Amino acid sequence: MSRLNVKTPSKAQAIVDQMYRNMEHRIAASPPGLCPVDMALNFLSMCQAQTCGKCVPCRIGLEQLNEMLQEILEGEPDPSILVRIEETAQVIVNTADCAIGIDAAQLVLMGLKGFKDDYEEHVYHHRCLGSLKNPVPCVALCPAGVDIPGYIALVHEGRCADAVRLIRKDNPFPSACAYICEHPCEARCRRNMVDDPLNIRGLKRYAVDHAGNVPQPKCAKPTGRSIAVVGGGPGGLSAAYFLTLMGHKVTVFERHKKLGGMMRYGIPNYRLPRTVLDEEIESILSLGIEVHTNVNIGTDVTFDELKRTYDCLYLSIGAQTDKKTGIEGEDAEGVISAVEMLRSIGDDEPIDFTGNQIVVIGGGNVAMDVTRSAIRLGASKVTCVYRRRQEDMTALAEEVEGAIAEGAEVSSLEAPVRIETNEEGRAVALWTQPQIIGEIDRTTGRPKPDVADVPERRIPADIIIIAVGQGIHSASFEQGGVKIQRGGAFLAESNTQLPYLEGVFAGGDCVTGPATVIRAIAAGKAAAANIDEYLGFHHEITTDVQLPAPVFKDLRARGRINISERDAMERKGDFECIECGYTDEEAFKESGRCLRCDHFGFGNFRGGRVEKW
Ligand SMILES: Cc1cc2nc3c(=O)[nH]c(=O)nc-3n(C[C@H](O)[C@H](O)[C@H](O)COP(=O)(O)OP(=O)(O)OC[C@H]3O[C@@H](n4cnc5c(N)ncnc54)[C@H](O)[C@@H]3O)c2cc1C
Ligand code: SF4
Ligand code: SF4
Repeated sequence: MSRLNVKTPSKAQAIVDQMYRNMEHRIAASPPGLCPVDMALNFLSMCQAQTCGKCVPCRIGLEQLNEMLQEILEGEPDPSILVRIEETAQVIVNTADCAIGIDAAQLVLMGLKGFKDDYEEHVYHHRCLGSLKNPVPCVALCPAGVDIPGYIALVHEGRCADAVRLIRKDNPFPSACAYICEHPCEARCRRNMVDDPLNIRGLKRYAVDHAGNVPQPKCAKPTGRSIAVVGGGPGGLSAAYFLTLMGHKVTVFERHKKLGGMMRYGIPNYRLPRTVLDEEIESILSLGIEVHTNVNIGTDVTFDELKRTYDCLYLSIGAQTDKKTGIEGEDAEGVISAVEMLRSIGDDEPIDFTGNQIVVIGGGNVAMDVTRSAIRLGASKVTCVYRRRQEDMTALAEEVEGAIAEGAEVSSLEAPVRIETNEEGRAVALWTQPQIIGEIDRTTGRPKPDVADVPERRIPADIIIIAVGQGIHSASFEQGGVKIQRGGAFLAESNTQLPYLEGVFAGGDCVTGPATVIRAIAAGKAAAANIDEYLGFHHEITTDVQLPAPVFKDLRARGRINISERDAMERKGDFECIECGYTDEEAFKESGRCLRCDHFGFGNFRGGRVEKW
C-alpha cells in the first residue's frame, strides 16, 4: 500500500485555476469609471474567500462589512451606515491576525475616503455616480482623449491618412506617439477580458508609416491676439499648434538650437528616429508658427518682457535639470548626468565610450536609455545599478529586457554608497551596499529595500552616469512671480492657468514633474482651449473624417500581435530604429480585434462621439 502519492492537480482544481485566470482578465479589463462601492464589495468578497477565518475580526467583521456594502448598493440604508462601515473596517485593520483580513478592510477604508461622493450618492439618492460617466476605457486613459476606436477602424479599412487626421484632432504628434508613447490607453482595453489588450500604439505606428504626407487642416481667420509659448517640447508645440489653428498668432521661444524638447534631447534615435521627429515638427510649423531658437527666457529675454509684449503666455519648459544622488564623489571627473549625456547625443556630439566600463545609477526609463546608448557608443561593459529588485524598476519591462538582450548587466539590490576617485580626482569605481528586499511601501505598492548584512561591493568604472530623475529650472520664473511647489514644479490649476498671474498658463513636465510626452501634449491641448476662452473666443477643433460603421465579427479569442524588433546583436551596434512596425497583414488582423466599445458594450460613449472640443 502506498504511503505517499505524487500530487497531481484534480480536475476541480484545474477548473478553479481557470476561473481565477478569467477573473484576472476581468480585473485587468475593468474600465475606468466603474462604481467604486461595487468594486470594494467584490474585492472584499474575494478576500473573504481566502481568509482562514480563525480570528473573529476576519470571520465576523468582513461578513458585516460585506452586508453593509450590499445594503448600500441594493437597499435604502440609514446615513449612519457610513460611520459603521468606517468603524468596523478600522477595528479589523487594528485587530485582524493576518494580512489578508487587514488588506481587505484597508481597501474598504481607502475607498470610503477616496470616493466619499460615490458612497453618499448611493446612500442619499440610491444611484451610482461612477456608472453615469462610464467612458470607453482606452479613450478615457489616453491623456489627450484620442478617438482610438475611430482610428483603429480606419486602419482596418486601410485609410491611414484619415486615421492620422483623426488623431491630430486631439494630438498633433501622431508620429512621435506612434514610436514612443507609453500607451496608458492599453492598460484597461476591454479586449483584456477576452485575451490581451489591443496593440494601440502599434496600430498608430502603422497608420503614420503608411499615411504619406497628410496636409494640416486650415487655420481659423486671424484673431489679432498674440501668445508666447516658452519651450519647444511636445507640450509647448501642442499648445502652439492648436492656438494657431484657432487663428491666434503664436511665437515659440526655445533655448536649444532645435525644437523637440526631451523628444530630441532625451529619447534616443533608436526609439524615435530624428527624421520622423523633424518631419512632424516641420508639419506642425507649416501652420505658420513663429519660432525663436537659442533664446533662453530669463537671460536673453526676461519673463516680464514677455508678459508685457504678448496677450498670453504658455510656459512649458519641462524638467530639464538633473537630480543628484548626494553620494560622496559625485562631482568627480568621469561622473556625468543622464541629461548631459543624452543632450550631447541630441546635439550630434556624442561622447565616445569606446572600451570604457560604464556604471549607470538608476532604474527608470531614462536609466535604460542611457544604458542602451552607452552600449551603442562603444562601451566594453555597462552595468546598471539599482537599489531595489529588477521587477521593481520603474522602467518599462521591455526596455529592461531590451537592454539585457543587448548585453547590459543589471545589478539589482545595490544601493550606491560613494564614488572612489584616483589621485587625479577621477572616478574609478562605485561602491555599493547590498540590500535585502523588505516591507511593502503602501503608498507606492513597491517593497522597500533594507541594508543587507553583507559587506560593501566595489564596481570598477571608467565613467559613472547618474540617472535618478530630473528637476525643473524654475529660478527666473519664480523671480517673475510664478509660485513654485515643493520639488520645484510650477503651481498651476488643472486648467493650466496660473490664477495668481494674469494671462499666464503652464503645463507639461514643469507642472507635473517628469512625466510623459502624451501628458505634456494633453496639457498643451487643455492650455490652448483655455487660453482661447480667456481671450474671449470659443473656437472649436473638429474633423470631417467619416468613420466606418462598426461591424461585429471575429469574436474569438486571438493573441495580440506584438511589434517585431531588429535582432539584438545587430541593433546594439547602431542608433537606427529598433522596432520594425506592422506588416499589412498584421495591422489588418490586430485592428480587427477591436471590440468598438464606442458602439458596443457597457462603456459606450454617453451622448455620442467626441467630434469636437
Ligand atoms: C531620456 C528620456 C526618455 C524619455 N522617454 C520617454 C518615452 O519613451 N515616452 C514618453 O512618453 N516620454 C518619455 N520621456 C518623457 C518626455 O520626454 C517628457 O515627459 C516630455 O518631453 C515633456 O514635455 P514638455 O514639453 O513638458 O517638456 P520638454 O520636452 O522638456 O521641453 C521643454 C522645452 O523647453 C525648453 N526650455 C526650458 N527652459 C527654457 C527657457 N528658460 N527658455 C526657453 N526654452 C526653455 C527646453 O529646452 C525644452 O526644449 C523621456 C524623457 C527622458 C529624459
Ligand atoms: S497617444 Fe498614447 S495613450 Fe493616446 S492613444 Fe496613442 S498610444 Fe494611446
Ligand atoms: S477593444 Fe477597442 S475600443 Fe475597446 S477598449 Fe480596446 S481598443 Fe478601445
